Amino acid sequence: MHARDVVIIGSGPAGSGTALHLLKREPALAGELLILEKARHPRERVCAGGLIPHTLHCLEELEIPLTVSHVRVDRAQVRVPPNRTVWCADGGMCRVVRRDAFDYMLVQAARARGAEVREGEKVLELVREGEGIRVVTEKDTYRARVVVGADGSGSRVRRQLVGDDPSAVAKALMCDIPLERTIWNGFQERRYDFNFLPVSHGLRGYLWAFPCLVEGVPHVNVGIYSLSNTCLTRAELQRLLRHELACLSGLVPARLPSLRFRGFPIYGYRPGRRLAAPHVVLVGDAAGAEPLMGEGISFALEYGKVAARTIQDALWRRRFEFAEYTETIAQSWFGKKLARLYFATRLFYGTTARLWFALAARSHRLQAIGLKWYNGVDGWHQRSGWAALRAVLFASCRG
Ligand SMILES: Cc1cc2nc3c(=O)[nH]c(=O)nc-3n(C[C@H](O)[C@H](O)[C@H](O)COP(=O)(O)OP(=O)(O)OC[C@H]3O[C@@H](n4cnc5c(N)ncnc54)[C@H](O)[C@@H]3O)c2cc1C
Repeated sequence: MHARDVVIIGSGPAGSGTALHLLKREPALAGELLILEKARHPRERVCAGGLIPHTLHCLEELEIPLTVSHVRVDRAQVRVPPNRTVWCADGGMCRVVRRDAFDYMLVQAARARGAEVREGEKVLELVREGEGIRVVTEKDTYRARVVVGADGSGSRVRRQLVGDDPSAVAKALMCDIPLERTIWNGFQERRYDFNFLPVSHGLRGYLWAFPCLVEGVPHVNVGIYSLSNTCLTRAELQRLLRHELACLSGLVPARLPSLRFRGFPIYGYRPGRRLAAPHVVLVGDAAGAEPLMGEGISFALEYGKVAARTIQDALWRRRFEFAEYTETIAQSWFGKKLARLYFATRLFYGTTARLWFALAARSHRLQAIGLKWYNGVDGWHQRSGWAALRAVLFASCRG
């Protein structure tokens, strides 16, 4: 049995991010920090790969330049019920990456800064034992003073050691089609599209189209996001996605070529839910992605930062209850953002959705503030609720 101070399970952005923040704070942890990953990088990850501007700030903070190939997005087309189209433009709204390359870049940085990464080693069991956790993988057994659950939406760490909430699992389906097989002009226009029209028909989510590069070839990534409590079946979600694809391809749905849809769950954040237990903290999707749009990469890196601070403090004090971690996340600016987005799902995907979409579509200034807040631009994401409300009301009066 190998002993380590910290064992991080999973090497997506949350796992690598936690390791990078820990090593930045405490370089001496290098020999004591182990990441266990069941896949081998560069590995596929079902994801649209949209990086909001705040994700780039998170990378800058870690001194990691975005070296992987990406598509820059400068404008958005948003269709909202009952049948309105809103256009937004703001230079550098998003960068679209491929997750295999992006995650590989992060894990390589963590490795270069001293993290030991064992790939192709799936964690099978976690057992609370005395002053730590026994971690059993398909190859070995480890003993950790701290286990970080960075193992994504289906987190074993969460299920075995913290507590699960199956009702929080949203689903997303997507596929990539070569641009040349479509009539979509979003790629040339550096644009991404969001379609909330099906909310009127019971979808609690939206459809998207993002420009992307697959092995250097221009593609469009098309997908559908749906909260778990939608009244639509999986077949109906697929039908909506096929309809969207048909519109982008200029074909009727029946004439679409056979396409490979890839699905993946997204575990949404809920205020008040436990995110830690003695010797265990959760980060990233294991703790909860943002539930309105399913964005999770910037949050994964932010969770990692708070977790690193908490773990460093625990190692110094030799106290591993992590009793305050859930509240620390809730009181952080991004915890408050997650909570606001959770409440926004009730407005935009609830019975009064039309009213809220109508309000949101009303004023360009209102949209600009909302966008800056969501994207983490100009410090909007860190302002208090009152400051944001004042600005929104002021903008509405003038808008
Ligand atoms: C279709 C879709 C589209 C999305 N689009 C966007 C987007 O455009 N922008 C955005 O910001 N977010 C998007 N998201 C969300 C985003 O993908 C996640 O929020 C993000 O990947 C979370 O990172 P993570 O590190 O927490 O988890 P993950 O990226 O899921 O990483 C978890 C890692 O843990 C490993 N692992 C799991 N179990 C074990 C085990 N037992 N033992 C060892 N290793 C294990 C996995 O192999 C994986 O490498 C999308 C999600 C989906 C499903």
